[in-house]
Amino acid sequence: MGAVRVVVVGAGVVGLSTAVCIAEALPHCSVTLLGEKFSPDTTSDGAAGILFANHFPDVPVEQQRRWFRSSFDHLLHIAQSEDAPEAGVMLSSGWQIFRDVPADQTPYWADLVIGFRIMTERELQRFPEHRFGQAFTTIKCECSSYLPWLERRFRRAGGRVEQRRVQSLQDLSGSFDLIVNCSGLGARALGGDSGMQPVRGQVLKMAAPWLQHFIRDGDGLTYIYPGIQGATVGGTRQGGDWRLQVDEGDTRSILQRCNRLEPSLSRARVLSTWVGLRPDRRSPRVERELLRLQGRTVPLVHNYGHGGVGVTLAWGTALEALQLVQQSLQETQRNRAKL
Ligand SMILES: Cc1cc2nc3c(=O)[nH]c(=O)nc-3n(C[C@H](O)[C@H](O)[C@H](O)COP(=O)(O)OP(=O)(O)OC[C@H]3O[C@@H](n4cnc5c(N)ncnc54)[C@H](O)[C@@H]3O)c2cc1C
Repeated sequence: MGAVRVVVVGAGVVGLSTAVCIAEALPHCSVTLLGEKFSPDTTSDGAAGILFANHFPDVPVEQQRRWFRSSFDHLLHIAQSEDAPEAGVMLSSGWQIFRDVPADQTPYWADLVIGFRIMTERELQRFPEHRFGQAFTTIKCECSSYLPWLERRFRRAGGRVEQRRVQSLQDLSGSFDLIVNCSGLGARALGGDSGMQPVRGQVLKMAAPWLQHFIRDGDGLTYIYPGIQGATVGGTRQGGDWRLQVDEGDTRSILQRCNRLEPSLSRARVLSTWVGLRPDRRSPRVERELLRLQGRTVPLVHNYGHGGVGVTLAWGTALEALQLVQQSLQETQRNRAKL
């Protein structure tokens, strides 16, 4: 019997992570990564890339902890290795600050990052409009370096890469034995998932090498994340907004809000401005089903809908998608054995 033919649709951080996990764990499969856009043109490329979780109400907290922990540990390992600069992965320390004391002062991921603690009065003095804060060390993963690094790792594991647009997942069922759908916002058209919505985000890259700490307002709207290739400064969260053009009003608002948190930014040069659409969904979809087509059934594993935390959760959900792929292949084998 020939190799099992697996196709992963989507070459953003979720698709590439999933493709690497499958190609490395299942050497008897021939894995193809298929995407319309590759780095540097995906949404993932422009993400600030800070590892920071939010709460999905429909996903058990234990599962969200597993996703976060797996991703954090995977990237921490890279950050502490000689690959760190090439992969664009670094440790990042700083503060999340709140205007009002939040109900949940110690979030579920507090013990998964490094050195989480409540900020002291003295630390808070520099943010006079804020009354509460959390200090911790997390990871910044710059996808414009990390995606090419993952792609090289995928090719080393024997993976193949193809750039093209897919009109429907059914079209792939003739050429592949198993399909993995990591198409991000593309899943709205590709899988008919009307629960997928864009949440527009605009950010600036600024030259401010003197900044060493991240600052994030707890409302998630305003943030400054120093990185290897400049500081990412944002942002906006505009639900249902498909515009990919830079909005000058947004740029002014971002600079004004960020300068209030970090006055020295007024001396920093703007390197670039970028807009991306977060692939938003009530919860990420990590599940499997069967595609039935002309008497043939092909297992389909979904892994998309990561919203504003796709870099944070990519490796964790990729490992779960790998498990679903393994279960599907075992079932197919059992069914064949019965015939
Ligand atoms: C301004 C901004 C800041 C962000 N900051 C952070 C952050 O700090 N931390 C964090 O964790 N996340 C952040 N995010 C969110 C993060 O960018 C996303 O969650 C993540 O990029 C989603 O990855 P993805 O692989 O699912 O999608 P994408 O990167 O969009 O990749 C989708 C892939 O599917 C392909 N595709 C789609 N349809 C088709 C088709 N029909 N045929 C073939 N290929 C197809 C695309 O071409 C692409 O290759 C941010 C997002 C924005 C916009």
